[in-house]
Amino acid sequence: MNTNDSCISCGMPMRSADEHAAKDPTKPYCLHCAKPSGELKSYDEVPAWKK
Ligand SMILES: [Zn+2]
Repeated sequence: MNTNDSCISCGMPMRSADEHAAKDPTKPYCLHCAKPSGELKSYDEVPAWKK
């Protein structure tokens, strides 16, 4: 399991599975950039502070 990933969308370091989308460490983006289902949010849905 790679625990040194960074979110491909916002760049947030993801140090644990909990910080990955849907708590799935195979997801290349973080929980903030994904819907609860683990689907990547569209650009407009990402919080403005991440842009
Ligand atoms: Zn992110």
